[in-house]
Amino acid sequence: MLRDIARSLKSRLGRRVGVTVLLLILGVEIAIFIPSALRLREDMIGALEERVRAVADAALDGGSPVGTTAGDRAARLAAHLVRQEGVRGAAVFRSGGAGAARAGEPVETTEETAPSAIGAVQPERRVTSDGAHYELVWRTGATGEPLLVVARTDRQTLSASLAYFALRVGGLVSIIIVVVTVGVMLSLHRLVLRPVLALHRSMRAATADPDNADSYLLGMPPTRRDELADVLTAHDAMLARVAESKRADRARAEDRALWLSRHEPLTALPNRAYLAEILGRAVAQAARARQGLAVLTIDIARFRSVNDGYGASAGDAALREVARRLLSAVRPGDAVARIGGDIFAVVMASPAEPGGAAAAARRMLDLIEKPFAIEGADLALRGRVGISIHPDDGADAAALLQAAEMALAGAKREAIGTIRFASAAMTLEARRRQRIESELGRAIERGELELFYQPKLSLGANPALDRLSGAEALIRWRHPERGLVSPGEFIPVAEASGQIIAIGLWAIEQACWQVARWDREGLSAPRVAVNISAQQFRDPHLPAHVARAMADAGIGADRIELEITETTAMSDVESAAATIAALKMLGVTLSIDDFGTGYSSLSYLRRFAIDAIKLDQSFVRPLGDGANDQAAGSARGGVGDHAAVETEASRERGHAEAISEAVLGLGRSLGKKVIAEGVERADQLDYLRTSGCDEVQGYLVGRPVPALEFGEILRAGLKRAA
Ligand code: C2E
Ligand code: MG
Ligand code: MG
Repeated sequence: MLRDIARSLKSRLGRRVGVTVLLLILGVEIAIFIPSALRLREDMIGALEERVRAVADAALDGGSPVGTTAGDRAARLAAHLVRQEGVRGAAVFRSGGAGAARAGEPVETTEETAPSAIGAVQPERRVTSDGAHYELVWRTGATGEPLLVVARTDRQTLSASLAYFALRVGGLVSIIIVVVTVGVMLSLHRLVLRPVLALHRSMRAATADPDNADSYLLGMPPTRRDELADVLTAHDAMLARVAESKRADRARAEDRALWLSRHEPLTALPNRAYLAEILGRAVAQAARARQGLAVLTIDIARFRSVNDGYGASAGDAALREVARRLLSAVRPGDAVARIGGDIFAVVMASPAEPGGAAAAARRMLDLIEKPFAIEGADLALRGRVGISIHPDDGADAAALLQAAEMALAGAKREAIGTIRFASAAMTLEARRRQRIESELGRAIERGELELFYQPKLSLGANPALDRLSGAEALIRWRHPERGLVSPGEFIPVAEASGQIIAIGLWAIEQACWQVARWDREGLSAPRVAVNISAQQFRDPHLPAHVARAMADAGIGADRIELEITETTAMSDVESAAATIAALKMLGVTLSIDDFGTGYSSLSYLRRFAIDAIKLDQSFVRPLGDGANDQAAGSARGGVGDHAAVETEASRERGHAEAISEAVLGLGRSLGKKVIAEGVERADQLDYLRTSGCDEVQGYLVGRPVPALEFGEILRAGLKRAA
């Protein structure tokens, strides 16, 4: 309680209220005390007067012995009066001024100054000249001769009793003041001051730390309901709002600051620092997903001449336009940044192949080369590109960016339009692809493409029952300078460039036409299998193409088989199943190529209306007792290596056997034929025959040969049969 009061008094408001209450009570008490003190004094004097007069009257009335003169009476009266308490002196004057009797201290009132005993009817009170005494003057006329009596009384005695009275009242008043002040202060403290002080503290703290204003809430108890409680509740609500808006402001400011620190303002593209961050994430993602990643750095050639010739604002507009075009050229996951005045960078997630990055770079350069209409002028920009590939050219963001910039520096030493890879091998590879791509365009028209045919052998219980059941058409490119180019070299390029559609169509038409021709020659050609690439397979026109090719050649659908690789079929099972069904409707035979190299999802295989599964050659190679392989192994290694080579070989064989057994079992259970690819040795064939494999294909049976040569094989077969 005392602490509460002390606390109240420490506050300015508390002190002010305390003093005001004190003064107010004091003022009220004084206003009451002074009139009552005055009245008290009057009453006391009045009482003294009454008493003195009554004593005097009693003394005169008491009768006097006979013969006493008026003078004696006066003397006796004076003597009697001074014996009374409070009376110091007395004088009695006779009317007519005949002598006077005196007793005690001399009185100031004389016969002259005293009113005439006859005239003065009203008693009178006078203050002596020294101010210390009263002199009461009155006329007694009780009996006999009227007398004028003067009684001198002590004024101090009166004052002393008055002072005593004042002291008593003062003490009482003090107690009242203390009690009331303390009471008022206490309730004031509880009800007003304490909340106001808390409000004061909270406001000061919140003002000093507005961001966290809501940590200084007062939390009014809900039971309290008055105006002050309303104020405090409103205060809390205000602090909460202040904190919220401060935080929102700060978040906005931080976002803005972060954006500014990460972007360059002209094009609003990420800057070099942010690119490093983005690239870092992309590298981690690529490493996790085991996917490729390419970093392209693009330099605008002779950009200074734009600034010099058309002005800086035209230069700015051109850079913005370049940024816009680059952004339009990348895929959703890719990023474009501006890492220098006229240098841009692109992060390409999972480019198709090295060729994919080069193709993208070419596309971007083509986009930049389209004329800009800037400041009324048609502006054509050109550029060069440096490319680095993850992980070949660097394991982290910094290394990759550096490699791409080094490649760009190399490209800058060459002609405008140069695209250069960080590694020389990559550059060569890109150039090779570039060359293949441009030459391939003319290859069809020039008739440089050709189909070779490789026989497929249907296995019987013994070799005598084996028979030629089909042929696979394998494309070759008879290059005027480089000779026979294998499909492994140009099919992926054609796939990336889109040329595969035309080439694939040509292969289908060619195969159909060849079957018709062998028919015409009476060679009873077997069914011919044509390979279908991923892009072709996704082409909605494929079934129509196949149908037209067969119709044009005039052959039945049972003469044609289509091979789709497992990876192609599994990449989008739903649409693959639909395409397979559409092809199946034509009546052609369908097989899954290179089975075992992709996802090998056996459950999905059930959903495909296919006829055959081609077990990939990698599983066929280790099959059988591997006599040839072991000979090769011991020839290569020394004596010590022999055992290691043998255990490695037998481990691989065990693995291949397990997989081929599984695929053969699957084929049997799903009612699909199983064809083994790449059979080169008799032991492989023996193994496959005993395992129940339906067909084999490989160098052991026959290599891919030109149509003419395959025609000879057919003719020889016919002769043998005859
Ligand atoms: P694929 O369809 O799996 O064809 C089998 C490949 O194995 C052929 O290679 C063939 O020459 C080779 N081969 C056959 N028997 C043996 C053997 O006993 N040992 C070894 N080591 N290899 C053997 P090729 O002709 O180089 O074709 C490679 C791939 O190119 C083909 O693989 C196929 O995916 C693709 N391809 C070929 N022609 C075409 C075509 O006209 N269109 C499309 N889209 N792709 C084609
Ligand atoms: Mg094939
Ligand atoms: Mg294959």
